[in-house]
Amino acid sequence: MTNCTICRRPTDDRNPIRHQRCAERLRADLADIPGHYALMGAVLAPGTAGGGAHVSGTRTAPLPVRLEPLSLRARGGMVTVLALWEADWRELRELTPAMRGTSATDLAAIVLSLRAHLPWAIENHGAVDEFAREVRDLLHQCRAAAGLLPSMMRIGDCPAQDDDQPCGAALYADPMADVIRCRKCRTTWPRGQWMLLGKTLREVEDERISA
Ligand SMILES: [Zn+2]
Ligand SMILES: [Zn+2]
Repeated sequence: MTNCTICRRPTDDRNPIRHQRCAERLRADLADIPGHYALMGAVLAPGTAGGGAHVSGTRTAPLPVRLEPLSLRARGGMVTVLALWEADWRELRELTPAMRGTSATDLAAIVLSLRAHLPWAIENHGAVDEFAREVRDLLHQCRAAAGLLPSMMRIGDCPAQDDDQPCGAALYADPMADVIRCRKCRTTWPRGQWMLLGKTLREVEDERISA
C-alpha cells in the first residue's frame, strides 16, 4: 500500500502516487495565491473588512493600517514563504536560482514557476505535503484577514447516542452552512432539524443544571 504524496492517506492501484483530487486542489490553491495577495492590498485600510475589533474610548489611536493583511504582504509573508519553496525546488532540479523581490510581480513570477514544477514536485519532492499545507494556510490567513471566513459557534455538546452514551464532543455550527456535523462521531443535522437539535441541547443543559 502506498500513500498520497499530498495528503499522506492511502491511494489505490490506479493512481499510486497521489489522489487526483488532491493534485487538482493543490493546483487550484496555488493559482488562487496572486488573487488573495491582491485582496490583502484591498483590505489594508482599517474598517474595510474583517474583524479589526475597534474599541471606542480607548486611549490608543487606531492603527493606520490593519496588521494581518499587511504582514501577509510584507517581508516574511506570502512572497517570502513561496520564494523559499521555489528556491528549494530550483536547487533540487539544478536550475539557476531566480532573483526575487517581494512585489506582486515577483509573487506572480514565483507562482508561475511553482506551477510549472508542480507535477514534478508531486511525484518527487519529499515534502510536497508540507508545501500543500502551507499554501492552504496562506489562503486561509488571507480569507480570515479579509473577513471571509464563516464564524463557527459553539452550540453545546454532541447529544448523538453512541453505545448508550452521548458522544459529548463539542458541537460547532456555521450559520452559513446547511448542516451541523459532529467532528468526532460524524453525526449530521441538516438545517431542517436544527430546531429539534436546539431543543435537545437545551433539555440536556437543564438536566445537567438540575442534577
Ligand atoms: Zn491525497
Ligand atoms: Zn458526536
